[in-house]
Amino acid sequence: MSSKTAIVIGAGLGGMASAIRLRRAGWKVVVLEKNMRVGGKLDCHAAGGFLWDIGPTMLTLTPVLTELFEHAGQRLEDYLELVPVDPICRSFFPDGKVLNTWANAHLFKIEIARQEQDQGQALEGFLRYARRLHDLGGEAWLYHPPRTPLDFLRWNFLKRIGGLPAVLGRKSLAAVVARRFKSPHVRRIFERYAAWVGSSPFWTPSLFNLIAYIEIQGGGWYLRGGLFRLAEALEKCAREMGVEFVFDAEVSSVLLDRSGRFGAARARGVVVKNYIEMKADAVVANADPLHVWNRLLQGFPRAPAVFRRLQKRPFSLAPFILLWGVKHRYPQLAHHNVFFSPDSRAEFDDIFLRHHPSKTPTIYVGISARTDPTQAPPGQDNYVVLVNTPPIEPDHHWDKERASYRDVILRRLEGLGLDALGDHLVYEKIITPADFSARTHAFRGAIHGHAFHSRRDVLARPRARCPGIRGLYLVGGGARPGGGIPLVLLSAQRAVGAVLEDAD
Ligand SMILES: Cc1cc2nc3c(=O)[nH]c(=O)nc-3n(C[C@H](O)[C@H](O)[C@H](O)COP(=O)(O)OP(=O)(O)OC[C@H]3O[C@@H](n4cnc5c(N)ncnc54)[C@H](O)[C@@H]3O)c2cc1C
Repeated sequence: MSSKTAIVIGAGLGGMASAIRLRRAGWKVVVLEKNMRVGGKLDCHAAGGFLWDIGPTMLTLTPVLTELFEHAGQRLEDYLELVPVDPICRSFFPDGKVLNTWANAHLFKIEIARQEQDQGQALEGFLRYARRLHDLGGEAWLYHPPRTPLDFLRWNFLKRIGGLPAVLGRKSLAAVVARRFKSPHVRRIFERYAAWVGSSPFWTPSLFNLIAYIEIQGGGWYLRGGLFRLAEALEKCAREMGVEFVFDAEVSSVLLDRSGRFGAARARGVVVKNYIEMKADAVVANADPLHVWNRLLQGFPRAPAVFRRLQKRPFSLAPFILLWGVKHRYPQLAHHNVFFSPDSRAEFDDIFLRHHPSKTPTIYVGISARTDPTQAPPGQDNYVVLVNTPPIEPDHHWDKERASYRDVILRRLEGLGLDALGDHLVYEKIITPADFSARTHAFRGAIHGHAFHSRRDVLARPRARCPGIRGLYLVGGGARPGGGIPLVLLSAQRAVGAVLEDAD
């Protein structure tokens, strides 16, 4: 057992995964969370016999989660029941066409070939290309980022070198998809993977086409009882190992001392609610990196370069969420549904160039009750409706627009075949990007911190070691490799790896 202590700021998934890993290494760990429960962006809401997952609705790349439990000396099955969801998604297009995305690639090919002439072969080719991206680009970006030239050997780099031009390609995700598919419908399905990382397909580098491989090859999963079970499971596992959680414990600053060589700053602990000092050997911040810089390091004289760069990079999409209890079951809907906007380019230009929410947005409707009847009263459905909007601008007042934007979404869904949906609503809760930001401290309400709008943005994301401040580490969707459950869990591997290396 080590006598070292760590403080984790925030009980999001990255924070809890870090706590588990640090505890496993023998550290004494305290997690300080400003809210009254764990989960952060992975939250839930219950009312009138309905249950809604507010944040994530789909789990991918499940081996990353399995590894975390194994690392903790536990079995995932003892905490969670993973349920495959297939079709992974049902897409509704403005011209009335409906297409399923299947995790079973063979089934997907049959569906595409049947509905979209000649596109079956194109799908096969595209998935082979996405796999190549994953095998090389995924290694470098996700699993084993290079630290020494030896790492290139470990990836079997020379054998895979043929895939390098595709990985480093300058084209956007959408441009490559457009080159590979003639069908506008199939293009929209694959373009949407850019939104998984909070970005526009027209600027996201083509490397991110590897997400299609991750989802279709590995499948999309649900957790029995709701995705929030994941947050509960990590909390339970961490507590069983001896991690301490303190709620309603907002960290107001990181304690710094400057006794290092040449006056270098070092994190010595944190201050909670402006007056309680807590000392630790390492501080792992699960809060948004820009919250860390703008609020928790206010006494620090000059922003390290990474934060200065970050302020200038584009932010990722922000969520406008509706939770609806619906007393009617529309037969055309599946567990995951996407109603596409008529013009994807115009939609993303509205969001990222004109900085206002689209009037004809793409709408995601998740209904976990279709897989898990415990989520809604019998014969009824629990809708999580998600629309991507711009990161909050100073002159944008969501409190004034919440009702009118909700009406835009409702009218669109009614126009797209969910007849008289408004008459069937028995419960409603509206969560704007501003509400989301207030609850999670997501800077400007951006779901994943920064967008990936260039290859530079992949490298602009902060690494685990907070530059310029020893003993402070960043974990979570705002740090490398990025947002989304599996990526955040991978960021915990990196953060704790850095803590342990520095402590040696
Ligand atoms: C609407 C939506 C849909 C999504 N869908 C999916 C999906 O389908 N699949 C998927 O894989 N991912 C999805 N995601 C992304 C996923 O939810 C996130 O990437 C992940 O949950 C983020 O975890 P994190 O570790 O970055 O921590 P966060 O969730 O950001 O948690 C940070 C925690 O720190 C706390 N905190 C912040 N500041 C302080 C402070 N000063 N003091 C104390 N505590 C503090 C916060 O309260 C919070 O609990 C979605 C996210 C959203 C919002």
